[in-house]
Amino acid sequence: MGFQLIRDLLKPKCHFFAWTLLHKKILTANNLIKRNWPNDPTCKLCSAKPETPTHLCKDCIFSKQVWALIKIWFGLSVIDVLGENGSLHSYWRRCRMKIDKPRKRRIDDIMIYFWWNIWKVRNIRTFQNKNLQPSAVALLCKEEIDQFNLATRVEVLVQ
Ligand SMILES: [Zn+2]
Repeated sequence: MGFQLIRDLLKPKCHFFAWTLLHKKILTANNLIKRNWPNDPTCKLCSAKPETPTHLCKDCIFSKQVWALIKIWFGLSVIDVLGENGSLHSYWRRCRMKIDKPRKRRIDDIMIYFWWNIWKVRNIRTFQNKNLQPSAVALLCKEEIDQFNLATRVEVLVQ
């Protein structure tokens, strides 16, 4: 089985989610309201701002705390100078520009798992009324990224 296929098999859900997120189409409160679904417009993670895809995955104080830990753990302090203005898509593109070419795919993987876990914890809080601390969410992200890296690294050794 090829390396790319292993990668694709391991994260189709995350990839589809990332694509939907970058097109601002995930079912956050603002998008539910656009569809006339009665809904609490407030962000479920910070309870302070309207919930939009950009807020949830970039601007929310909760998500920022998670992202800060992930940046430390994965040695991504180089992107700290960017600031966080603009859309999620533009932030992601600016982050990629700061990373050297061999690590660009790695930053994609890290961000996709970060966004995916933010969405999962948002849903856990919304539907199960359970609260996880930012450090616990960051740890979940790190475990998934480490597992993914381990799985794909093994395949590289086999080739
Ligand atoms: Zn928020």
